[in-house]
Amino acid sequence: MPMTPDAIASFLAPKGPLARAVARFEPRAGQVDMAQTVGRAIESGGHVVIEAGTGTGKTFGYLVPALLAARGPVVVATATRTLQDQIFETDLPRLLPLFPGIKAVRLKGRANYLCPFRMKQWVATVDVRVMTLEERLRLRGLIDWSSRTVEGDLAEFHDLSEEDPWRRSITSTRENCLGRECPDFVECPFNRVRLAAMEAGLIVTNHHLLLADLALKEGRFGQILPEAAMVVVDEAHNLPPLTSVVFGDSVSTWQTRDLIGDLRKLGIEAGVDEVVLREADRVHQATEEVIHAWPSGVEEGKEEIGLLRERLPKLPEALGDWHQALSDLADLLDRRKEGAEEIAKLAERGQELADRVGSLSQSSTRPEVVHWAERGARSVILHGHLVEVAGVLRQTLFARYPTVVMTSATLTTAGKFDHFLITVGLDRETTPTLVVPGSFDYPNRTVLYCPPDLPDPKDPRYIDQLLPRMGELVRATEGHALLLFTSHRHLTKARAWFETQDWDFPVLAQGQGSRRALLERFRATPESVLLATGSFWEGVDIQGRSLSCLIIDKLPFPSPDDPVLRARMAQVKERGRSDFVDVMIPLAVTQLRQGAGRLMRHSNDFGVLMICDPRLRRANYGRIFIESLPPMKRLGHLAGVARWYEGIVAEHEAGDAGSEADRGGGDVAGGGPDG
Ligand code: SF4
Repeated sequence: MPMTPDAIASFLAPKGPLARAVARFEPRAGQVDMAQTVGRAIESGGHVVIEAGTGTGKTFGYLVPALLAARGPVVVATATRTLQDQIFETDLPRLLPLFPGIKAVRLKGRANYLCPFRMKQWVATVDVRVMTLEERLRLRGLIDWSSRTVEGDLAEFHDLSEEDPWRRSITSTRENCLGRECPDFVECPFNRVRLAAMEAGLIVTNHHLLLADLALKEGRFGQILPEAAMVVVDEAHNLPPLTSVVFGDSVSTWQTRDLIGDLRKLGIEAGVDEVVLREADRVHQATEEVIHAWPSGVEEGKEEIGLLRERLPKLPEALGDWHQALSDLADLLDRRKEGAEEIAKLAERGQELADRVGSLSQSSTRPEVVHWAERGARSVILHGHLVEVAGVLRQTLFARYPTVVMTSATLTTAGKFDHFLITVGLDRETTPTLVVPGSFDYPNRTVLYCPPDLPDPKDPRYIDQLLPRMGELVRATEGHALLLFTSHRHLTKARAWFETQDWDFPVLAQGQGSRRALLERFRATPESVLLATGSFWEGVDIQGRSLSCLIIDKLPFPSPDDPVLRARMAQVKERGRSDFVDVMIPLAVTQLRQGAGRLMRHSNDFGVLMICDPRLRRANYGRIFIESLPPMKRLGHLAGVARWYEGIVAEHEAGDAGSEADRGGGDVAGGGPDG
């Protein structure tokens, strides 16, 4: 079938090929509109930006024209694993039988794959005598799995959580991977999946690998993605901050520790004698001194490196010693590399780290880059990030691929694409854009409630006055609530307050296990309340009454302490523009829309969104936020909200909604967590 607007419409029509092949396929006008817009971009060889609300079926909206056009490989890059899994495990098995020649490959980040070389090294040095019985059994299971696995995807080995410290020892980074010189290169899972991706017609990957490929940063593997005819950047609102990181640079105390660890594993027979070990100890000591340059008790913080050097008297010397010790070790190893391949690699790694420490420990001399340091509980990372990403995206992503589709549920601010287009470097006048409205009945199924009499969030009494108001609403909805906070400080206070009250439902809080486990518990106990921050603002996909009350503590303006954001705001001001209007508001709107998007995940969903921040109603910029939210019914008093909620629950329970929605069933339109 050719790829014309009519052919696309027929393919997605009520009695079209997709409807005949896919059970419960629900045709949507917005999906056809999106697919035809993508089709035109492919035809004209240009880029397109599409905001597609939840429930529009955007995955089929971009895949159908791409596969009908059959111009060559298609790369789909997502920000989250959830969406990647949704596309690969749910959408593609429905769509690909209609395109029999197309082979799809999922390419995850390298940290998801077993590195057989490092696994063997680790197993050879690990001391089982200090392990518990449980750890020994787990190790045996891991060794057994590693000898059997074909794909080497760590998700196959269920006894290894995302946070498990063993992961560092059995996976690779671009610094420690030996690439083609590795004795396990042929069997290497990451290498195998990379080769499969080179041959595939459709590659589902993540933003990081897409950008790393553009920045030529997959180290010894070289190019990892084929020359695709089209790239889809899904969840595209997340691309700019990651671009700033991937096209920048960084070095951490962890990397130094890993280098020393790998050196010690080699042993005396590989040339690691007393002299080398003494030098390695010196590097280790210098690394620890960098961490101790912060006053005791300080375990986190971010600051531009020049300001930090002035503020912390011990830091300049500690950074200088770190650099010198790494350089000396690299020199020593370099003198011993003859006939010792692994020593040569470590010398190279040491020199690379030394160079980065040398460069990133001083203020940047390039206005487009900011150098800053991040202090963690047991680490220090020096970063050099891009202040703006428009230039690199224009020179790489948009120059390399004929058609790039940027899509997400949250790209506009009050209906306008300007901020996103400027940020990614696309022309505001000539780039085609489209808003595909969500198909949900927001006015009848949702309520926006902003409590009338709270103080300004800057008022120190704010959080104390806020918590009882949150509690009132949560009692009215009998739980079934997600409470999203803009800071860990508010989350901690809320958690402590909720613990002092009596509730008829479980109260869960971030920090009680992994994100995945917490969401599973939240899903499994439908009346529970979950308090969370950070990553929970995105990708939480819980349907039915279980999440029918969503509370947001305040407007999510980003922290002005972030050194990269500060540098960006300074640049905007230098150009005579308002940093608040051009930077802070669009970022806060995107975040608010992502958070608010947790409420309606299916056409049968319903619920209350409470945004506690009084600036939504009182500040003159509040209307930008309101106009950016879906068209919800607005109520100003808790009693009215409670009555409305009671009514819609009664309707829902009377069978209006259907039981399937409560457990995540529903119609198929080819959409991920946000589309
Ligand atoms: S090529 Fe790299 S990732 Fe693969 S086994 Fe070797 S070191 Fe590990």
